[in-house]
Amino acid sequence: MAQIDDFNTQIKPTWCPGCGNYGVWNSLKQALAEIGQEPYNTVLTYDIGCSGNMADKVNTYGFKSLHGRTVATAMGVKVANPELTVIAIGGDGGVMEEGVNHLMWAARSNMTLLSLCIIIKPSDSLKASRQ
Ligand code: SF4
Repeated sequence: MAQIDDFNTQIKPTWCPGCGNYGVWNSLKQALAEIGQEPYNTVLTYDIGCSGNMADKVNTYGFKSLHGRTVATAMGVKVANPELTVIAIGGDGGVMEEGVNHLMWAARSNMTLLSLCIIIKPSDSLKASRQ
């Protein structure tokens, strides 16, 4: 059974110090390990931007899509192989704005996939690190 470290790659994150993507990245790997996922039967699809930069930092199959198309890409993967666990990852702009129609269609299709919408709100310490 895969452990958290099995979901690591050789690529180190370059997000800003204090960025919430670090927490999402670690929690995602921990959750995958805890539910017994293996890298070979897990597919993560990504939007663009900072959250999309997670694509080379999680050891699963992955697809970095266009802006707003992470859910649509995940749906395509799930249709092609329903046995895979598929998670669509994107920021609020990609999932809730540009790609919100795909999210609605995914819900209507009643597919078993997870859409993870990452909303990063700058903390005081993060704002301070940028000054
Ligand atoms: S989401 Fe914001 S804080 Fe995080 S890496 Fe991108 S710019 Fe930096």
